[in-house]
This record gives sequence, structure tokens and C-alpha cells, in this order.
Amino acid sequence: MRVVIVGGVAAGMSAATRLRRLDEGAEIVVLEAGEHVSFANCGLPYHVGGVIPERAALLRDAEGLARRFRLDIRTRHRVTAVDRAAKRLRVEADGAVAEEPYDVLVLAQGAEAEALASDGSVPVHALRSVDDMDGIVGAVEAGARTAVVVGGGYIGLETAENLVRRGLAVVLATRGDQVLHTLDPEMAAPVHHELAANGVDLRFGAAATGVERGAVVLEDGERLSADLVIDATGVAPRSDLARAAGLDVGPTGGIAVDARHRTSDPAILAAGDAVEKRDAMDGGPALVALAGLANRHGRSIADVVAGEAEDAAPALGTAIVQVFGLAVATLGWTERRLVAAGRAHRVLHTHPTQHAGYYPGATVLSMKLLVDAASDRVLGAQIVGRDGADKRIDVLATAIAGDIRATALSRLELAYAPQFGSAKDPVNLLGYVAGNLAAGTATTVQWHELPRLQREGWTLVDVRTPEEFAAGAIPGAVNVPLDDLRERHAELPAERVVVHCQVGQRGSTAARILSQLGHEVANLDGGYRTWRDGEATRRHEEAVA
Ligand code: FAD
Repeated sequence: MRVVIVGGVAAGMSAATRLRRLDEGAEIVVLEAGEHVSFANCGLPYHVGGVIPERAALLRDAEGLARRFRLDIRTRHRVTAVDRAAKRLRVEADGAVAEEPYDVLVLAQGAEAEALASDGSVPVHALRSVDDMDGIVGAVEAGARTAVVVGGGYIGLETAENLVRRGLAVVLATRGDQVLHTLDPEMAAPVHHELAANGVDLRFGAAATGVERGAVVLEDGERLSADLVIDATGVAPRSDLARAAGLDVGPTGGIAVDARHRTSDPAILAAGDAVEKRDAMDGGPALVALAGLANRHGRSIADVVAGEAEDAAPALGTAIVQVFGLAVATLGWTERRLVAAGRAHRVLHTHPTQHAGYYPGATVLSMKLLVDAASDRVLGAQIVGRDGADKRIDVLATAIAGDIRATALSRLELAYAPQFGSAKDPVNLLGYVAGNLAAGTATTVQWHELPRLQREGWTLVDVRTPEEFAAGAIPGAVNVPLDDLRERHAELPAERVVVHCQVGQRGSTAARILSQLGHEVANLDGGYRTWRDGEATRRHEEAVA
């Protein structure tokens, strides 16, 4: 059996090495257009910043791989056409064209950066390959002092951070009113704050049309001058080869495959960023360009070829990115997406510390959980914090994989000592809040509902201390501290009361007290902190609109 793999990095090389472990007899050819196979693309931004000083640490020894796994690896070989009837590939290398036969073909071509038009007056680089990385490092070493990063996705953010590390003045231009579309606006606010605090000049509503005469030109005509431009405007699946060969391509533009990674031609399999995934929340088509899925699905392709396959699980999109001192971890759908899809959901915000508050080094995690009220299934999660976000998102991803529902998160028995967590871990707390909402022992309102509720005559009661109230309060709120509430509740109306504290916990106690004293009351979910963060991004939204 002759298996030819197109693309020799995450999915492609996982398929090749696993297949060799399963089948010593197969002939395995890897055709890679670039100079390197199996390189660590996720580490590229960190060599730019000098965090990974050794360039070689990102590279794999192709000859060593070829020897160990008995692979026929050919770099600088670009596949330009697939003749499915003849089961032959057209391959270009060193200016020559050759034909390559296959019994089984694996497409693992990844995604392609969308290129900004440029007149060449200033270096413009995406960051997808080792060549891109070398180009950026070269521009910095040649004396670039200023950079414009176009795009607020995770590659844009990682590159911006690493250019700051190299001492450049960085402008980050993003088309919308926030960075990272995997976050809802109130969750993006701390990320904006962190970028600004580290000297990144953030521009919202900055849609770039191209690069001309040494500057990024925006739709409104503004010019952002720079010595170096990073094009992180987005990626698209590399599905042109598949499309030209007549394979089915899905509505997202990714190659259509079944749960066993088979394309519409049974002799051709595909995995990685080039492929359309099945979304875990609605079973619909989705593009999820992440390394874990590419590696796992590439490995599964080998199982399919060797006849040992199981179906791929749908994609949750579990992801994490560092932005200076913050980690941003997400999975599933955002509230914005649930609203757009008209899908009923419940929203929970919490702000616990990552470990016991009394233990030195405690910092706040901002957490958001989206839950299907009818089934209690988790539909999405967003966690932003200095420490501990990674562990919590992975616990949530594991819980979802095991079909553990939101209210049952309270019952997870998680490791605890004060330096690692809390006796009620932040994930357990999400379960408690979900349980209270499900049982009707808590009623909450969201930060973005407040203006409407206040217009409708709801009274907003801030139950924090007078000192906290004086330091910053929501317009229109009256201050009745939690500890005075039982004595002073008669000052409040019997109906339409919203209470809030700093993060939602004292507000929850206040709501329980008032409710049992006969008031109609709701707690502001996530408290002042979530409201403040939501308002901060809403101001960008208004500016962009
Ligand atoms: P790739 O790994 O991109 O490999 C595709 C290969 O196919 C390329 O080398 C290309 O040259 C080759 N190719 C394309 N067309 C042809 C052709 N016609 N002939 C021959 N060869 C061809 N994901 C995470 O989960 N976490 C992270 O922290 C993270 N960080 C990232 C940072 C950066 C800078 C980048 C670029 C990506 C990052 N990713 C991250 C995404 C992750 O790297 C990708 O999801 C993953 O590499 C996709 O694997 P793949 O095999 O589909 O494609």
C-alpha cells in the first residue's frame, strides 16, 4: 500500500508516524511544500520575542524522522493537482514537474493566511511558517522600531506581545470593537486593559485596506505608519487542491469529511486546518484551526487506513492564549453566538480567586459559563485570569466530554490545598451557581440589561461597603451595605429590586435575604466588576458604530 501525505506538519506528520507504528509494510511518502516538516508553529511567536532563544528548538530533524519511521520525506515538493481517476499527483520541485502515484492520499495542507495588499514599501509578514518567522526576526534585527499588527485574533495578540518584548512600539489594529471573537465583550475588557498597560496602542474599528507608502491604510483613510507590518487578518482553509480535484468542500470552505476523516472520494482522507469539523454544540459545520485537533485527527487517519478506526468526537474548540500576564481560555459558543442563533441559554459570571484568598499570590479569575437551561448542558465557557485559567478550562472540557452537566460541576471532587485551589474550587462554584439558578433559589440579571431595567423603574441597590461604593458605583445605585440590609430593607420597594456587590457573591446573599423578607429581587450576575468590564467594551462598540 502506497500512502502519500500532502503537508508534513501537525496532521500530516501525526498520520505518517502513527501509520508506521501500525503498519511496518506500508510505503509512506510525505510531500511538504516548505523547507521544514513537523516544526512547532505554535512556538513561532516566542522565538520572535526571544522567549525561545534557540531557533533550532522549533525544528525537527527531517532525516532523523525519516530514518526512525522509515518515511520518504520530500521537502520543497508542492502538490499542484490530483488526478483521482488515475490516482496520481502532480508535484513541482526544483522547477521540475513529476507525477506521484498513490493508493491512499492524505490531505493535510493546513490553512492559509489571508494576504493584505501591499506596495512593498515596508516589510509585511504573516506568521504561519518558519520563513515568516525568519522574516520578522530579520526586520527587527535590521532596525525596525515600530510595528502595526493587523488583526486581533490569537496570532495577532501573540505577535504583538513578542514584538513589545523586542522593544518595538506596537499598534494593534482590529476591525471590530474588541479582540478575540471567542470572548464576549465584557470578557474582552480585561484583555484590552492588559494590552494597553503593556504599551500596545489598540485601535478598534480599524479595518485595513492595504499597505501603501510605508503605512497601513484604514478604510476611513487613516494611515498607520510602521517599519514592519504583521498581517494577522485571518486564515482560510487550504482547500483549493481538493476543490479542483472535485472533492466536496463544505459551506465553511473547509474540505468536507465524515467522522472517519474520509472525503467524498474513499481513497482520500483529510485532517487539520484545511478540513471542516463538526461542532460539538449543534453538530453543524465548523472551522476550528487548533493544533490538538490537527494532531489527533491526523493520528486517527492512520487508524482508519490501518482499519482500526473510531469516530472523531465533535469539536469543542477548547483554546488558550497568553496576553502578557493574562491567560484567556475558551470553549464552545459565546453568548453573542447563542443570541444570534436564537438558542435559549443561561449566563453565569463568577470572579473567584484561583486559590485560597488568604494564601499569598491569590489573583482573580473572571469566569463565564453558558448553559442550556432545559438540558443543563454547558454550551460555552470563557475564563480570563493571571493564573489557573488553564486548569479550569481543561476541567470543564473534560466534564463536557464525560457528559457532566452544569449543576453537577459542584460535585466534582477536585484536588485542594490552599496554594492550588479552594475547598470550593472555582469550577465547583460554577456548579453551585448553576444549581441555584436551576432550582430557582437565585434570579439574576445581566450587565447589559441594567439600563433597560432602570428605565422600567427597577431600584438598583449596591450592597457593598460605603468605601467600595465611594470608589466607583453604577449610576443610579443606592448603597445599603449587606450587613445593614435586614434592618433597612423597609427603605426599599417591595417589587423590582436589583441588588449587586463587587463580584456577585454578597449580592446573592442579599437577594436571598430580601426575597425571604418578601421583596421581588434579582442579583446582578458577576456584580460591579462584570458591569464595569461590559461598559468598557460597550464604549468601543459605540465608537465603532
Ligand atoms: P500545518 O501545521 O499548517 O501544516 C500544513 C503544511 O502543509 C504546511 O507546512 C504547508 O507548507 C503544507 N502544504 C500546503 N499545501 C501544500 C501542497 N500543495 N503541497 C505540499 N505541501 C503543502 N494551535 C493551538 O492549538 N495552540 C496554539 O498555541 C497555536 N499557536 C499557533 C501559533 C501560530 C503562529 C500558528 C501559525 C498556528 C498556531 N496554532 C495553534 C494552530 C496550529 O498550529 C494549527 O492548528 C495546526 O498546525 C494545523 O495543522 P495542519 O497539519 O492542518 O496544518
